[in-house]
Amino acid sequence: MKFVVIGGDAAGMSAAMQVLFKHEEAEITVLERGPVYSYAQCGLPYYVGGIVPEREDLIARPVSFFREKGIDARVHHEVTQVDAEKKQVHGTNLDSGERFTVDYNTLLVASGGSPNRIPAGGADLKGIHVLKTIPDAEGIIEDFKDKEHITVIGSGYIGLEAAENLIEAGKSVRLINRSAKLGSNFDQYIVEALRVEAEEHGVELTLEEEIEGFVDDGSGRVRAVQTNKGTYQTDGVIVAIGIKPNTHFLEGTGIQLHPSGAVYVDPYMRTNVDSIWAAGDCATQYHRVKEVHDYVPLGTHANKQGRIAGSNIAGERMTFQGMLGTAIFRFFTLTAGRTGLSTKEADEAGFDYSCETFEPSPYAGYFPGSKAFRLQMIKDNESGRLLGVQAVGVNGVDKRIDTSSVMIYNNMTVADIQNLDISYAPPYNSTWDPIQKGARRM
Ligand SMILES: Cc1cc2nc3c(=O)[nH]c(=O)nc-3n(C[C@H](O)[C@H](O)[C@H](O)COP(=O)(O)OP(=O)(O)OC[C@H]3O[C@@H](n4cnc5c(N)ncnc54)[C@H](O)[C@@H]3O)c2cc1C
Repeated sequence: MKFVVIGGDAAGMSAAMQVLFKHEEAEITVLERGPVYSYAQCGLPYYVGGIVPEREDLIARPVSFFREKGIDARVHHEVTQVDAEKKQVHGTNLDSGERFTVDYNTLLVASGGSPNRIPAGGADLKGIHVLKTIPDAEGIIEDFKDKEHITVIGSGYIGLEAAENLIEAGKSVRLINRSAKLGSNFDQYIVEALRVEAEEHGVELTLEEEIEGFVDDGSGRVRAVQTNKGTYQTDGVIVAIGIKPNTHFLEGTGIQLHPSGAVYVDPYMRTNVDSIWAAGDCATQYHRVKEVHDYVPLGTHANKQGRIAGSNIAGERMTFQGMLGTAIFRFFTLTAGRTGLSTKEADEAGFDYSCETFEPSPYAGYFPGSKAFRLQMIKDNESGRLLGVQAVGVNGVDKRIDTSSVMIYNNMTVADIQNLDISYAPPYNSTWDPIQKGARRM
């Protein structure tokens, strides 16, 4: 079997290893346009901030590991076209500039996504960065080492993690965002705490402003960011405004794409075209509550989908059971997390729902250090099912998000939740867990 993988990171290498485990004789070729395999993008903000000291700490398995296993793992090989009829992949060797063609029996598209750029004048100036790969992070570290003021554009979790790490590294930071919210996909009750936290840690917030361009300092380097309301001096910029799936090279294959540009996949990770599979940030994820294909590019899904694709390609039968949009991040002293639907998503999905917000203690209120956190719970009025939970606070958030994720995954109602047997001792919880307290209020 000639198995070709496009993309040598989470999804691609999870799949390649599954095929290798089950078919030692398989001819596996991985085409990766970058220089590194199996790297932890999630750790990049902490590498920029110096919390993760070494580049090697971010690499789960070097290219040599895969080559020793017999995989033809190529670097600097960019795929530019897939010919689904001839079952061939075409591309460019970025080192030599030469074109290459590889035949496949089975193809996995695991090409992830690329950061969105700002379509404004000066966007290509020196000093303007994105944060997606190890070379991106190295470029930022080198470029910002003698710079004082950095502007972060975008307030999703990557923008916020970047802002925190830059502040911790001693920079002054302005965060510019189009909307008034810090933390995209979170509801107002939660994001308000993030705004207060940003201000308390010295992040200059410039909200509800639209980027109009970047000002050149005369040497081709960015000197200022221009918005519809002002011009802000800066020594460097990180743009973190989301990603788009890398699927342009599939044009002409007949592969169906979601409006986001991601490849539609079935539960086995098959596309609609024979012998072509997809997984990870370039593919859709079925949303269990919305009951539609969605696009929530996260490492959790990429690893699962890659493993499922690889197992199925190797002849097993595994299915992706869908996701809930569960996510978590740290912002200075706070943790913010979510699972299931936000109010906006519940509205869009047409649910008749109730939303409860309150501030429970993460553990016994009398126990030292117990600091109330903000909790939001959404219930479907028709079935009583829990639809979504969001939380922000100093501690106890991760536990509630993960237990809620299990509840929502299993379609539990607020009545069921009150009966759950959840552990309690004063340093860990109250006799009624905060999620159970919320369920009782709904
Ligand atoms: C800064 C940052 C922080 C993150 N933090 C978290 C987190 O805390 N939790 C979480 O769950 N997720 C997080 N993520 C998301 C997570 O890293 C991704 O979901 C995951 O890496 C996706 O894996 P993937 O294999 O699908 O795609 P990718 O990791 O993007 O890998 C795709 C690979 O394909 C290659 N490629 C693309 N196009 C081509 C082509 N034409 N030819 C050849 N090769 C190609 C790329 O170079 C890349 O190496 C974070 C991401 C970033 C950037």
